[in-house]
Amino acid sequence: MNSVSRTASVAPPRAVIFDLGKVLLDFDYMRAASTLAPHSDLSPAEFKRVVDQSPLLHRYESGRMTTAEFVAEVRRLTGFRGPDDLFHGTFGDIFAEIPEMVALQRRLAGQGVPTYVFSNTNELAVTHIRRQFPFFSGFTGYIYSYEARSMKPDPGIYVSLEKLTGLQGSDLLYLDDRAENIAHGAERGWRTILHADHGPSVRTVSEAFGW
Ligand SMILES: [Mg+2]
Repeated sequence: MNSVSRTASVAPPRAVIFDLGKVLLDFDYMRAASTLAPHSDLSPAEFKRVVDQSPLLHRYESGRMTTAEFVAEVRRLTGFRGPDDLFHGTFGDIFAEIPEMVALQRRLAGQGVPTYVFSNTNELAVTHIRRQFPFFSGFTGYIYSYEARSMKPDPGIYVSLEKLTGLQGSDLLYLDDRAENIAHGAERGWRTILHADHGPSVRTVSEAFGW
């Protein structure tokens, strides 16, 4: 953190905030739907529509229903009749690491820069990610929508992040692939990167730290 930025008048950020989906991890709900649909009344595509970016998933990820309530509702809507264990083991198994971004987090953490996960997500996904991806344990802290009971871009979850880090405004550098999420961070004075591809994102973070 003592490195001098090339733009000498601007201090480097004091923490880097990572969105999870499509930034550190790719995901595809079709993977889970293909496994679960044969145990239901729906095709994989229809099953996917029930759980992917749906009002039901939104309720679950905003902490307004428990995992047990979510699974019961999926059973009702899809006719899923497999065991709970199959659902729990499959629903979160939709992720693949984005190596360049994981390497970026590792480099920051290795230099003592605090890094945080800031994600609209749910208990089943986080349980699976913790188990499958060793890099995930290497962050300073975690803000999950289902625990904060607020989803990006609602202000509540941003307030939770500021409280956890003890930082505000331009001390925070925030990467997210969704423009509306980034927009609210920018409104709060956070430095932001609208993530699309690892090349430009890694370059911008490097410049912010004067690497
Ligand atoms: Mg995302």
